[in-house]
Amino acid sequence: MENKLELSRDTQSIWQKETIEHRLSFLPQLAKILSDNKQKYAECITNEMHKPITQAIAEVEKCALLCTYYYENAAQFLATKHIKTDASESFVTYEPLGVLLGVMPWNFPFWQVFRFAVPSVMAGNTVLVKHASNVPKSAKLIQTIFEEAGFPKGCYQDLPIPSDEVAEVIANPIIKAVSLTGSEQAGIAVATEAGKHLKKCVLELGGNNAFIVLEDANLEKTVAIAVNARMQNAGQSCIASKRFLLHENVADAFVSQLKTAIQKLKTGNPLDKTTEIGSLAREDLAEELEVQVNKSIEMGAKLVCGGKRTEAFYEPTILTNVSVEMPVFKEETFGPVVAVTTFKTLEEAIELSNTSEFGLGVSVFTQDIENIKKHISSFNEGAVFINEMVKSDPRLPFGGVKKSGYGRELSENGIKEFVNVKTVVIN
Ligand code: NDP
Repeated sequence: MENKLELSRDTQSIWQKETIEHRLSFLPQLAKILSDNKQKYAECITNEMHKPITQAIAEVEKCALLCTYYYENAAQFLATKHIKTDASESFVTYEPLGVLLGVMPWNFPFWQVFRFAVPSVMAGNTVLVKHASNVPKSAKLIQTIFEEAGFPKGCYQDLPIPSDEVAEVIANPIIKAVSLTGSEQAGIAVATEAGKHLKKCVLELGGNNAFIVLEDANLEKTVAIAVNARMQNAGQSCIASKRFLLHENVADAFVSQLKTAIQKLKTGNPLDKTTEIGSLAREDLAEELEVQVNKSIEMGAKLVCGGKRTEAFYEPTILTNVSVEMPVFKEETFGPVVAVTTFKTLEEAIELSNTSEFGLGVSVFTQDIENIKKHISSFNEGAVFINEMVKSDPRLPFGGVKKSGYGRELSENGIKEFVNVKTVVIN
């Protein structure tokens, strides 16, 4: 570990002096390697955490897109900004912080890592990544990809350590800041350690996004989006829609159409291109979900379909009559479970949505755009998507409020999270 830390530090001291054009020059090759080998990399992802191969391929393609996006925009984001003051000259420069630690999860084993590493490295930092322990091959592969693209050794390093050694790494003076994507518990552990050593951290934690359907929504389109919003990656996504808040006049029709749609999802071997929903990444995650569902049923939720587990596979499930105190409403469900609650007014829907301790994003479906625009500031969320599921896009900031964490990834905001914003005044 000490050797890796020292290599990161030594590489960073050279890397930060390179021009931004030089640093960017590796990105087209990084994107090309990802695109050329997407099938191979996707197979590695699918074998390790079981998502359907088509979704794993899409994940790798998105990483290539991210590289192209920062290739085209990073220089402009990091350009010196001249600001008029009383001084003869004043400006702001964006300089790297140094060596960063990333602690990353298994649900999008490539995407989560690339969206942290690419902007960080382009800003002149070097990174060490402690990936989740259930995706060690993906973790190793990503380091190889950076090396194949020609990045100097030490720009990107895989750090295969158990989570109980993370604190020691954060404490090491070589590490200047840390970024974590994962559960609330892991976030608290990392933020506590970073706080002890006064090091900056960015936290992208869980979410319990509401999917709000107003009375005037186009039901057919909304149901199609709902399937993807909840079932993609077998529901194992922080930004997946988890709580379905439906206007009481459309709830029955919506649930019946959604049931038909999710029962058509093809299960099977995740390496088969026609498979649409696979098992969860680990059996313990499916067991945890089973407990949340069964407890909610005991408390009065009604099982419309699904509800059965076979090892790590959990059936796509719909629960209605869900109330705010049930686990499927209160807690994050990391699996294919739709929890339905009805409302009478938009104000009630907003209140229900905001009840969550998390605040990553919300989707609202309505045809009255002008009306919903007036309510956007009422949502305590990092993102509000109207007539669309919440999804990440390299061009848009990504992150949450409340227990979903702090800081932003992607876009101009993301690349500026791990820089020293240096003020320069010349008289
Ligand atoms: P974790 O949060 O435990 O894992 C995410 C990463 O954090 C892994 O690299 C893990 O390492 C590391 N980690 C865990 N505990 C600590 C710690 N105390 N100090 C430092 N690093 C730590 O997720 P799980 O796999 O246990 O999933 C549990 C739940 O977390 C899910 O059901 C879901 O609710 C949420 N989650 C949210 C994600 C998101 O995208 N926001 C992603 C993954 C999970 P290791 O694997 O070695 O334990």
